Amino acid sequence: MNIESSNLGFPRIGAQREWKKALENHWAGKLEENDLIAEMKQLRLESWRQQQEAGLSRIPVGDFTCYDHMLDMAVMFGLVPRRFGHGEGPVPLHTYFAMARGDGENAACEMTKWFNTNYHYIVPEWEKDTEPVLLENRPLEAYREAKKCLGIEGKPVLIGPYTFTKLSKGFPSEKLPTILEQLTPLYAQILIELECEGVQWVQLDEPALVLPHSQEEHEMVAAVYEKLNQAAPGIRIMLQTYFGSLEHYKRTLSFPVAGIGLDFQAGREENLKSLSQHGFPEEKVLGIGILDGRNIWRADLLQELEFLQDEWTQQAACSGWWIQPSCSLLHIPLSVKQETELPSVLKHSLSFAEEKLEEIVLLTHALVEGAEKFSEKLAASHSALEELAHSPWRTRKDVQEATDRITDQDTRRLAPYSERKTIQAQRLTLPLFPTTTIGSLPQSDEVRRNRRAWKQGKQSDESYREFIQQEIRKWIHVQEEIGLDVLVHGEFERTDMVEYFGEKLEGFVVTRQGWVQSYGSRCVKPPILFGDVVYRKPMTLKEVVYAQSLTSKPVKGMLTGPITILNWSFVREDLPRPQVARQIALALREEVKQLEESGISVIQMDEPALREGLPLKAKERDAYLEWAVAAFRLATAGAHPATQVHTHMCYSEFHDILDAIQELDADVISIETSRSHGDLIQAFEEVHYEREIGPGVYDIHSPRIPNREEMTRLMHRALRVLNPSQLWVNPDCGLKTRTREEAVSSLRNLVEAARQLRKEHAEIAQK
Ligand code: GLN
Ligand code: ZN
Repeated sequence: MNIESSNLGFPRIGAQREWKKALENHWAGKLEENDLIAEMKQLRLESWRQQQEAGLSRIPVGDFTCYDHMLDMAVMFGLVPRRFGHGEGPVPLHTYFAMARGDGENAACEMTKWFNTNYHYIVPEWEKDTEPVLLENRPLEAYREAKKCLGIEGKPVLIGPYTFTKLSKGFPSEKLPTILEQLTPLYAQILIELECEGVQWVQLDEPALVLPHSQEEHEMVAAVYEKLNQAAPGIRIMLQTYFGSLEHYKRTLSFPVAGIGLDFQAGREENLKSLSQHGFPEEKVLGIGILDGRNIWRADLLQELEFLQDEWTQQAACSGWWIQPSCSLLHIPLSVKQETELPSVLKHSLSFAEEKLEEIVLLTHALVEGAEKFSEKLAASHSALEELAHSPWRTRKDVQEATDRITDQDTRRLAPYSERKTIQAQRLTLPLFPTTTIGSLPQSDEVRRNRRAWKQGKQSDESYREFIQQEIRKWIHVQEEIGLDVLVHGEFERTDMVEYFGEKLEGFVVTRQGWVQSYGSRCVKPPILFGDVVYRKPMTLKEVVYAQSLTSKPVKGMLTGPITILNWSFVREDLPRPQVARQIALALREEVKQLEESGISVIQMDEPALREGLPLKAKERDAYLEWAVAAFRLATAGAHPATQVHTHMCYSEFHDILDAIQELDADVISIETSRSHGDLIQAFEEVHYEREIGPGVYDIHSPRIPNREEMTRLMHRALRVLNPSQLWVNPDCGLKTRTREEAVSSLRNLVEAARQLRKEHAEIAQK
């Protein structure tokens, strides 16, 4: 049997986030298109070189992108919504970016989360009469480039036809077969051209095959792969699944593909069960996604090696193995080498993308040449992890005792919602259709510069605090002048809503360069949660209380919720996640208390990542929602009935968690809707929602300034299913990426929209 090392995809952003900087410079008109293209090529070559130097045999090509890999597929198929006015031929870069970000006139395409990750893709949009055509063959170009520049025999990667179609929008689900039928010849054409070029293997990513789907639908997928095989019989397809276990495993074994890639992290148990029950075809290659592409812990290679030599492998007597990560390495940072400031116990236990490659290659060598030859290196991974397990930070008796003491009572507020509503209304005296923002306000270059200087020790605590206060002052005045009802301090002191809390709580560390792409050029730096979580001292008080001292309007205290902190961190794996969530919730509960005691009357606890963590498999969902909701409630339920608790969610599919949203027992929720054009509102036709809600009316990802009419229109739509007394008017999400001018103009229109609605309502009431 042939055993090879392989990878599924690599981070694109570069060691110093050069990718982000180049893109943003280009958008700001500071980098010509040609220079951008050249810069992107450098980054692409660098990522291939790294994989080549690591000694990897199956290097993916075609996974690199200038924005998002789904968008790349869409433009390759000519799926450009009519509003962007694209004529014929390949889609130019400016149209590509307009689809992603919107332009002066046109709203951007919808963006949503990639399965259960925090990576966002641009949703391919089908319109009436859309006829897909193959405008380019991007994987082929990438293959040629890797070969020509570096002599790499690359493995072109594409999103497979089923997944691409499943994640598209603009057609009813009954039309899925038709759409697939339209796309199949285009995929076939790509494969034929790759075949002519002499490509050996192509990786077709089909993570949608781990989602529950019917037998019938699976047959449809089988038929597509039959056609692809007929069209290009000489090319070997690796049908790559990830993020869970493959559904309809047995049937998939007879797909005419040369290899099947399985996730042995997220789907290990189920996949193993299928393997031992149904075996694996002799003639196919098994892709073993053994190293976790979603987390940053070093693997215990001795243990993994043992696993790979275990009994189950007798059933997998196939033509070959590819040892690979469980999914693309897109979801983890590039290199541990840059983390010079981490304690060494921790540093030795980490593995980012570069290190994962080393682990894969080592594991492969050990399998091929025998473990003895590598025993020292293999043992090193085991002892590094042992050392971490026994380090004093890992277990804090007081924390574990505190979580043991939690009772149901701690997750219930003192008064039911109906009573709270009255008490809060008396305290806050807000108008109908109250206006607010989601928390962050534009982070100017000046804000970033000051923060950087302070972090690097070039600015004193004193002068940094003075600077932040000055920003807060400025923006409290702006918000008052615009006429918003519930103000925010602006979050100028935070780089990121999770990292900030990671810096303040014990049990977390933040990295120097551990960036991961979130959407477009936006990267996040997830903190590492390695030990028991301890509340040290107030985390957000200074800024919020200062802001409140400047105004008679309520200022919202802004906190990130326990589930979002959990889902957007790299979390230890030695404790069950619900238990870690409870630890975080207890810390936040303390912060809520502190805010309240300082006179803050409205507290928002953001949970944009709650939906993202929903398991892909239906049968695991209830359990997740139960502990997630309980953690949120534990964090907020200590609030006095007169304290208005808000939550916020965005960029996810909310329909299937509406019940859980109610269960959170928050008084108000603000929720993103403008990218999905009000689809969410429809959901409220089916579910009776009695709390207050602010459906977002301003798409904050676009430089576009929405006018008053657009915003009133969205609110009118909401008014069809919700009462005026339930509705708030707010943007989709935080404004930190917008310019001051964009934010101010849009918020003026937003306040105007609310005034318009009040006026209309008063007129109706008079009649
Ligand atoms: N309060 C955060 C902000 O406004 C919320 C961000 C988010 O939902 N991702 O930036
Ligand atoms: Zn948001």
